Amino acid sequence: MTTLTFESLNPATGQVIGSHPKQSAQAVHEAVGRAETAAAWWDRLGHAGRRRRLLDYKAVVTRHLRELAELVHQETGKPVADASLELVLAITHLDWAARNAPKVLGRRRVSSGMLGVNLAATLEYLPLGVVGVIGPWNYPVFTPMGSIAYALAAGNAVVFKPSELTPGIGVRLAELFTESVPEHPVFQTVTGLGETGAFLARDPRVKKIAFTGSTATAKRVMAACAENLTPMVAECGGKDAFIVDADADLKAAADACLWGALSNAGQTCVGVERVYVVDAVYAPFMRELSERAASIRAGEHYGPITMPGQLDIIRRHIDDATASGKAIMGGTDSVRAPFVDPVIVEDVPEDSPSVREETFGPTITVRRTRDAQEALELANASAYGLAGTVFARDARRAMELARAMRSGMTAVNSVISFAGVPALPFGGVGDSGFGRIHGADGLREFTRPKAISRQRFALPGMNLTSFTRGPEELERLIKLVTFLHGRRKR
Ligand code: NDP
Repeated sequence: MTTLTFESLNPATGQVIGSHPKQSAQAVHEAVGRAETAAAWWDRLGHAGRRRRLLDYKAVVTRHLRELAELVHQETGKPVADASLELVLAITHLDWAARNAPKVLGRRRVSSGMLGVNLAATLEYLPLGVVGVIGPWNYPVFTPMGSIAYALAAGNAVVFKPSELTPGIGVRLAELFTESVPEHPVFQTVTGLGETGAFLARDPRVKKIAFTGSTATAKRVMAACAENLTPMVAECGGKDAFIVDADADLKAAADACLWGALSNAGQTCVGVERVYVVDAVYAPFMRELSERAASIRAGEHYGPITMPGQLDIIRRHIDDATASGKAIMGGTDSVRAPFVDPVIVEDVPEDSPSVREETFGPTITVRRTRDAQEALELANASAYGLAGTVFARDARRAMELARAMRSGMTAVNSVISFAGVPALPFGGVGDSGFGRIHGADGLREFTRPKAISRQRFALPGMNLTSFTRGPEELERLIKLVTFLHGRRKR
């Protein structure tokens, strides 16, 4: 039987980079079968064994950083420097997951409470078995590694389906893993189009799917997972807001805003798309923003739009924004496929598609608000809730705004900084999805809690879970509970 293949292209030049198999249902089935055996072996290695091998894998990835960054550059078009930064972040997460899994997930005693004084209660977090990871193309190392590293550290085997736009880097990451773990295919990559991902999601032996991609695809994957009651992490899109308060450092805010909006050509799930600036500093902030943006060019400071189809959405949003708002920089002419120059539009109505829908391009809408409270209300009036930014000098006020922002993550006086802190969980609310990668929550996401209560001795006169129990035992219990819980505390 001949295997069908597909090609990955350099989006900047159209040049073919590699050819990969479109893996069939049978091929995915076989990969999951191999992963099941590997998972049992990996689990038996225990925390110490896995920690050692994952730290070794981290060292292998680090030694191949330049080669991997070049491959990411080829497949996505992003500058090599940005691809290198992405790899550094992924390495940091791999390190954190490997080092912290034993402490976060390992067996520990927990208090058994007053009524359970005769019990020893233990809790540990056990691996699920095989985890399927379905990844996007925009950060083809950092994003899936947020699931892969944490799932592996938690003791699972991983079958990874990278985006059809970035299969080569997905294959290479799994190949390098065999240098550290040659015995069993604990981490495999399967390549193909969307249907290969669907085969993975429908396989009943996959115990969890970690999906990162668009909200629309997440719904399809969730429907496939529902067939087997397979749980899922959904890391979806965003329409992140950036709030500038009256006391903000405007130079720093403008600089961070442009990086957050334009780096990776705006193809960042936690990228800045909506900017809300309080009236008191609106004019000076806009001056700062426009001056700095004037020197930023697509093809020089950031790469092309990776997915050709996205250009239509970006163009539609630019048309929509400039029809109802005022263009400060750029417009429809900024689209020079496959590149898009920076576009800044102000006063776009909040109910416009360009303010409500994810654009995933180097464009921002800016709005003047009465005060920070109004900025917060507008920021929160979105179906998405992934991340966001607050710029304010008063740390107490900044923290208040950040906490009230309806999002999974907020950066204060910096942009996207939470992504580089491995101890912080990453994930959204609403249309941005559910579940968490990164941090202790990200480790627990790929486990099942195992609770054990062991009776150490029988409590005299308190054998409550027995048909031999007499009314006096229940009476004693009610008296005890009334003593412990019956008083109203002031
Ligand atoms: P897509 O939703 O198009 O694809 C995501 C992945 O799902 C790809 O591997 C894709 O394969 C696969 N897929 C497609 N159809 C199916 C299916 N029916 N069953 C199973 N898998 C399927 O997203 P993009 O790759 O375009 O990524 C961009 C999106 O990702 C943006 O919305 C962005 O905001 C979001 N994102 C979210 C992040 C987060 O952490 N919250 C981080 C990074 C991106 P194929 O490519 O072969 O079609």
